[in-house]
Amino acid sequence: MRAWLVESPRPVAEDPLVRSELPTPVPGPGEVRLRVLACGVCHTDVHVAEGDLPLRAGPVVPGHQIVGEVEARGPGVSRPRPGEVVGVTWLGGTCGVCDHCDEGRENLCADATFTGWDRHGGYAEWAVARADVTASLPSGLPPREAAPLLCAGVIGYRSVRLTGLRPGQRLGLVGFGASAHLVLQMARHWGCEVTVFTRGEHHRRQALALGAVRAEGIEDGDPAECHAIVTFAPAGELVPASLRHLRRGGTLAINAVHLTDIPSFPYERIFGERAVRSVSHVTRADAREFLELAAVASIRAEVRTYAFEHANEALRDVKAAAIAGQAVLEVAG
Ligand SMILES: [Zn+2]
Ligand SMILES: [Zn+2]
Repeated sequence: MRAWLVESPRPVAEDPLVRSELPTPVPGPGEVRLRVLACGVCHTDVHVAEGDLPLRAGPVVPGHQIVGEVEARGPGVSRPRPGEVVGVTWLGGTCGVCDHCDEGRENLCADATFTGWDRHGGYAEWAVARADVTASLPSGLPPREAAPLLCAGVIGYRSVRLTGLRPGQRLGLVGFGASAHLVLQMARHWGCEVTVFTRGEHHRRQALALGAVRAEGIEDGDPAECHAIVTFAPAGELVPASLRHLRRGGTLAINAVHLTDIPSFPYERIFGERAVRSVSHVTRADAREFLELAAVASIRAEVRTYAFEHANEALRDVKAAAIAGQAVLEVAG
């Protein structure tokens, strides 16, 4: 099968994805083989391709927002059924028996595996996934529009949930890429007032068009007195800068799997029981809850599609934050 592999990580400007021919994968016990229809291109894929997240199991096919049709099942699989179109997220599998798994925080499982990092992902014609981590998709969505919900949407949902944001409160979003533009729609559905902090002029216009009350630079304007803030860019200096806009008792959630160092800042910025917390991966419950919400709230992803051949170009555009919304690789169909 045609596949893109990361063999030796290097900057996206140097085309780190290598076109390869791999054997069509065979699903083992508890696994399904999917014919990949579309796969979202996430900033995490940039981190894998460039080596910020070092390869853990040798060369890997990246991609963890997979929409695919179930084509074959390994022993012991009763669901999903052949022909069903399902999604696969970043969470590739968990041990199922440790304390974290037991407490419903399987995202923290020390033995968790991740799609497109520990296991081959969706930048290929076929992908094998554990059947128990596949997600049902809202009906009627074309694959290219469903793909962005699977990481950008699900991790955005988890990030907001970890801040404790309640309906009607004020939310700040720092950076306005694929995840933030889905979170903005979710927060508007809850009647929240959303301020977006971003440098890009086209991102500001898009945020205002989607219902943000303010869209400006993080250093501009008066403090926004947000009850909750989520940062999306992998830049540590945004953490102290964002705290200026967080009201007392509020929570700042850092939605990043990799972040540059956070510069030191005066204690006053978190005094007043402000909390700063990271967001690590996702759970199956996050995926289920968000995908249901996306259907109810009609959350729609802005998408730019790339032909399969143009995977390296997609990675470059994602790194440069050159697109408003989500990059998606069209694989089949
Ligand atoms: Zn992702
Ligand atoms: Zn576990």
